[in-house]
Amino acid sequence: MLGIEEKIIMLRYNLRKEPIDYALLFDMAREYSVSVRFGFTVPSLDFKNEHYSFADMAAYKHQIIDFVRLARLNSVKAHFSRPLPRCLFTEKEWGYLISFGGAKSKCLLGCSGNYTSRAVVNPDLSVYVCYAALSKAPALFNFKDINALGRYFKDKVDILREKPLKGECYSCRYYKELSCQGGCLVYKYDSA
Ligand code: SF4
Ligand code: SF4
Repeated sequence: MLGIEEKIIMLRYNLRKEPIDYALLFDMAREYSVSVRFGFTVPSLDFKNEHYSFADMAAYKHQIIDFVRLARLNSVKAHFSRPLPRCLFTEKEWGYLISFGGAKSKCLLGCSGNYTSRAVVNPDLSVYVCYAALSKAPALFNFKDINALGRYFKDKVDILREKPLKGECYSCRYYKELSCQGGCLVYKYDSA
């Protein structure tokens, strides 16, 4: 498609539990010289959706590794989009995913101290800062400035970030050294 090369930054793909053929996806990525951002679907806070539970992630972790391997074989760069619970993987698997699949165990939201860098303003001027719609701020004019908006999200996000995903986290070294937050924060929202 004429002109599309200048418009596309990357392709986005949600893994599916049923096996599918990735040929078209990799063909497109190669044709337009773009990478593929991919991930598990996470629960929506607004409606019931198909998603991967923690148990599903453990059962389907091979999908991530297979996807990265296939992407490499097809000369396509693949990045896992969301953080993953570190304990799902062996040391060897984790090392492979960090090197070739962009794996991370912490959400980028607020990591550098900036909680509004990914802000999306809705038509009614309410604000989201995360794709999982973790928390919606009221209309923009309720905040004195962007720092006040950042503080609004910081308070909500930090509570979830520090909350353990499960009981085992308390005795886990990754939790103690703050290097794993247990995957996407939306998994911890219910009991926050
Ligand atoms: S902190 Fe929790 S989720 Fe992360 S690796 Fe440890 S036990 Fe797993
Ligand atoms: S909470 Fe989940 S969806 Fe939201 S920014 Fe973090 S990883 Fe992404």
